[in-house]
Amino acid sequence: MNFLEERIIRDGNVKEGNILKVDSFLNHQMDIQLFEQMGEEFKKRFADANVNKILTIESSGIGIACIVARHFGVPVVFAKKTQSLNLDGEMHIAEVESFTHKCKNQVIVSKKFLTEEDHVLIIDDFLANGCALQGLIQIVESAGASIEGIGIAIEKGYQLGGRMIRNLGYHLESLAIVDAMDAVTGEITFRDNATALEETE
Ligand code: 5GP
Repeated sequence: MNFLEERIIRDGNVKEGNILKVDSFLNHQMDIQLFEQMGEEFKKRFADANVNKILTIESSGIGIACIVARHFGVPVVFAKKTQSLNLDGEMHIAEVESFTHKCKNQVIVSKKFLTEEDHVLIIDDFLANGCALQGLIQIVESAGASIEGIGIAIEKGYQLGGRMIRNLGYHLESLAIVDAMDAVTGEITFRDNATALEETE
């Protein structure tokens, strides 16, 4: 098992409704040392990619994206989910269905911060059905920028997103792929990660 899988086993909780709760270290309280390890690992996995910008979506992708960005030495742009007074000028907008909140959101990025000059690495905390990613991909496409890769902390491999994104030809790397989880026993099964992370032992 790699460092992230071990942490999920130790501190993650499987909830009814197909939710893996990782709020003690990933998406509420954040373990920055763990994020550092993730940043380093993404840098290795996308070593050959020519990246000048990290793109994520608010809110829980932002923390991880910031640490990854430090490893690449590039800025982070996060897609906003609400129109606010701070958003001015022309914008790229896509519709996204939220897995956790069961509703539709718009995701918005100012045209100032994403252009055809950009080579983007997309980073997010979870991949389930791929709706969030599809929204981000749509935004990159409408900017005329290129997608150099997609890095995900936790992919729920039994949902359709991963397969769909890989079938579209994107270089997708997920640090932990959950193949099954059981809310009653709490058991979590991981896929053998083909591009294995360094073992922690
Ligand atoms: P998708 O759009 O791929 O269906 O879902 C991705 C988004 O839903 C992620 O950004 C994440 O916020 C949320 N999500 C999906 N599944 C889970 C889960 O099992 N646990 C948590 N904490 N968030 C999830």
